[in-house]
Amino acid sequence: MSDFLSVVVPVYNEAPVLSEFHAQMCEVMNATDCTYEIIYIDDGSTDESVDTLNSIRDDDDKVAIIELSRNFGKEIALSAGLDHARGDAVIIIDSDLQDPPELVHTFLREWRGGYDVVYGKRVDRRGESRMKILTAKWFYRTLNYLSDVEIPEDVGDFRLLSRRAVDALVSLPERHRYMKGLYAWIGFPQKSIPYVRQPREAGRTKWSYWRLWNFALEGITSFSDVPLKVATYIGIVTSGVAIIYGLFLLVRTLIWGNPVPGYPSLIIVMLFLGGVQLICLGIIGEYLARTYQESKLRTLYFVKGYHPASSPGQVAEPE
Ligand code: UDP
Ligand code: MG
Repeated sequence: MSDFLSVVVPVYNEAPVLSEFHAQMCEVMNATDCTYEIIYIDDGSTDESVDTLNSIRDDDDKVAIIELSRNFGKEIALSAGLDHARGDAVIIIDSDLQDPPELVHTFLREWRGGYDVVYGKRVDRRGESRMKILTAKWFYRTLNYLSDVEIPEDVGDFRLLSRRAVDALVSLPERHRYMKGLYAWIGFPQKSIPYVRQPREAGRTKWSYWRLWNFALEGITSFSDVPLKVATYIGIVTSGVAIIYGLFLLVRTLIWGNPVPGYPSLIIVMLFLGGVQLICLGIIGEYLARTYQESKLRTLYFVKGYHPASSPGQVAEPE
């Protein structure tokens, strides 16, 4: 019995590349010995992506489309895809042709060799600015330093997940879904495959630096509570310094009297401590806000239209 695969593709304003992507993806999938479905998740696109997807689906009975009710962001779009995927294994790939579909053959081989998560690791990030590469590097270093799970660097969402890995991810109830962290967190045998990341075929990246910064905050707050504890240590260090300085002042005054010292030093200390306090409050605020959002238990996303693949593929039949 051949395996049934689901390909999950998030789409947000990608109309110019979709047909080319679909053609390449099908070529690769047809060359495997598996049956498959390709699930496109329209993440509230405002261009012609949905029309293009519909016409692709008209010509190909293996295509499913999930239209989300608005733009929820890639992480949620992927969750929607995983919720609807029926495959024995699920492949996640970007629709902008930055992830080479050919790698799927290697993914499949490793999956059959017993790995649950097989992910692509970028060895060369063509078409990305030095600044982006550098900030990404710093970020992963900080994140791994702060968090307990090892989150691999230069790794995106491009990967194959076994059925039990998908079930594990789908079972996680949290609303803040930092997928890169969650893939690592679920555990199971994992394997990385190096590949060269291509520049975008068309369209433009949706990641501004502000969005990346917020994504970085998401990663750190989801996988580490170290920042919350920072205030304690800064407090201990500053009070230690303050006690020593106080003793020094006491001794000096006793020996040499008090010549009315230090307005500037006073102001510096005040400003410094004021700043530290505000930063610490801000950090607590970041976590508090997330706790608040999680506590609302809001539905992750709403589906505006679901068009399943008309060919049933190979759904597990009752034995
Ligand atoms: N994407 C999405 N929702 C969003 C932003 C992006 O579904 O809000 C999709 C997008 O269509 C693409 C993938 O996520 O298939 C990666 O996005 P992008 O190419 O902008 O990111 P980059 O490759 O620059 O990291
Ligand atoms: Mg991209």
